[in-house]
Amino acid sequence: MTPRLQEIFLKAYREVRPRAPIPEFRVEFFAFSNINNTIRLREGVIFARISDLLSGAPKDVLHAIAHILLAKLYGKNIEARHASRYRKYLGRRDVSSKAHLLRQERGRKVLLTAKGRTYDLEAIFEDLNRRFFHGLLARPLMTWSRHASRQNLGHYDPAHNTIVVSRVFDRPNVPRYAVEYLVYHEMLHLKHPVRLSGSRRCVHPKAFQDEEKLFPELEKAKELLKRL
Ligand SMILES: [Zn+2]
Repeated sequence: MTPRLQEIFLKAYREVRPRAPIPEFRVEFFAFSNINNTIRLREGVIFARISDLLSGAPKDVLHAIAHILLAKLYGKNIEARHASRYRKYLGRRDVSSKAHLLRQERGRKVLLTAKGRTYDLEAIFEDLNRRFFHGLLARPLMTWSRHASRQNLGHYDPAHNTIVVSRVFDRPNVPRYAVEYLVYHEMLHLKHPVRLSGSRRCVHPKAFQDEEKLFPELEKAKELLKRL
């Protein structure tokens, strides 16, 4: 812990709880994927994590954060001057653009998880690639979706060359052929890019549909997805 953070938290604590005994503090800067600050109290020790994006912030901004966190922890009112100081700092153009970059970089890393609890999407891709495409498709980024969406079961994102499959399928009670079918369908999108026929976008052209029928458990898989 930096002595600076320790000192700032002590001072803020005194303001929020003038007469209470001083607890032990463990405060650190932490690499969240967003500007985020957390606090909790466990067995008399206060643990706080401040976004490392704020490590270069002026002292009064860190003081404002410490005040906000401690006030929340102890159910006290957050003083307006601290709230507005922190808000103003976050609104600074250099700070908000840094936060934006951070979300993109770290957010993407969090997003990309081909290895789920049950199924490994890269392994499924390679297996299907061998069975149906003579191993000729270049593997895009494969990832489980962040949330278990039932609306968006799978999609291929050509802009980021990524196949995303909804996390709802990463479960032992979901048969492997269902996951395979979803990945296979997206692999066909990879192979058959969306074409314009007149002004209409042809997302599943005939060649796509014919090739989809080659998947042995097609009907079973479609039935299962309908029931989901
Ligand atoms: Zn499709």
